[in-house]
Amino acid sequence: MTGFVFGAATHTGKVRRTNQDQLLTNAPMFAVADGMGGHRGGEIASAMVVDALATAATVATIDDLIEEVQEANVRIINRGRLDRELKGMGTTVTVLTGLQRAGPDRLGVANVGDSRLYRLTDGTLCQHTEDHSLVESLVRDGRLTRAEAAVHPQRNIITRALGIDERVLVDAWELVPVVGDRYLLCSDGLFNEVDEDEICDVLNSIGSAQAAADELVDRAVTAGGRDNITVVVVDITAADIGDKPPDDRVIATHLALQDPVSTVESPDTDALDGEASDLQSGQYRHESVPAIMTRRLVLLVVAALIVLAVLLTAIAA
Ligand code: MG
Repeated sequence: MTGFVFGAATHTGKVRRTNQDQLLTNAPMFAVADGMGGHRGGEIASAMVVDALATAATVATIDDLIEEVQEANVRIINRGRLDRELKGMGTTVTVLTGLQRAGPDRLGVANVGDSRLYRLTDGTLCQHTEDHSLVESLVRDGRLTRAEAAVHPQRNIITRALGIDERVLVDAWELVPVVGDRYLLCSDGLFNEVDEDEICDVLNSIGSAQAAADELVDRAVTAGGRDNITVVVVDITAADIGDKPPDDRVIATHLALQDPVSTVESPDTDALDGEASDLQSGQYRHESVPAIMTRRLVLLVVAALIVLAVLLTAIAA
């Protein structure tokens, strides 16, 4: 059975009035969620996904984990429909869990949005999750460098979140737990303030998971604390894994298709979490499902017309 030692810390930061991040340290289930959407919405959305994971049935496979995230998404959408004040609330979620089944020990990871999971192995930090954000898409397309993305004014725009579309796209991985590996789950309030070299230094130099989590949060606050900051550090202290693990620890990957159907922008730090009217002010926005369907229909018609034109040209020739 996989052994875990963990520590966690969260802070509202210096600018926001409320902390809409949530964390879960209920071994073998660990999670970070970063909520968004008006006065109470963000807090409620992130709390709902964390509560859903805390009370999840046995998670034996990454498909089970994806299912749990999907169910939390539906619950958040339904809650938003019941209460106008919560309409449009959303949240990211990054989960790390020990899979509960017979055979060699395995970890499950799931991610939606721009919270992150990193792994520290032999002093080297690597990011397992891929941000579902506008700037990450631009980096992937070669239109922005990693350094430009780190300071881009629109780096708070995310392309996936729970609470927006009925069927959320979830990325997931199955990993081999290796004794000595250290995992870090965090919200963007950490990595937007503290660069990865410094995060790596802290994780390398502080043995206690709790002390490392506290230090990372302190550094993010000191660096500006412009957002809520949440950190969970998980050390693997025991594992029965069978064969030699792959260097990247990855046994299986489920990457949902890149399909930025919605664009969600967190509130600006100047006008944070105070008013429900944030939802109308444009600081937080998402496209409605009808708008997405209309756009897709238009694209389909245009594609059909192009095919028709090519066919007619070919016949005429
Ligand atoms: Mg955040």
